Amino acid sequence: MDSIQVSSLWRNSTTSPHGSGRGIDIVAATRGDVTVRFNNTPAYANQYDQNTEFIEEVYTAFYNDPRVSQVLNPSRMLSRDPNNYYDEPNIWNQPKPQKVNSKFYRLMIAHNNHLHITIWRQ
Ligand SMILES: [Zn+2]
Repeated sequence: MDSIQVSSLWRNSTTSPHGSGRGIDIVAATRGDVTVRFNNTPAYANQYDQNTEFIEEVYTAFYNDPRVSQVLNPSRMLSRDPNNYYDEPNIWNQPKPQKVNSKFYRLMIAHNNHLHITIWRQ
């Protein structure tokens, strides 16, 4: 990886992991002459589809990093929090299945245009 573009670190919120500075939103990563945006909304869907290997590689690196408690991107959702564990596809661009609760579906939609990681609380 040569560079990453971060859109957000700290936010003044008590309910979000961003509020304590542990949440990082990454919008793009560059390696060599390839820049991928972690965005598969319609305007970016083509570049997303053309770079799924790179996207998957970045996701997996965070997925395998024990310092990371949560990794969310437009394709997959992982939370290692024992009180709120999940590891499943992000289906934001499909109609909400009945078994998926609305709050979680909104979390999926909120991550259709970036890669979010959360660092464990020390
Ligand atoms: Zn975030």
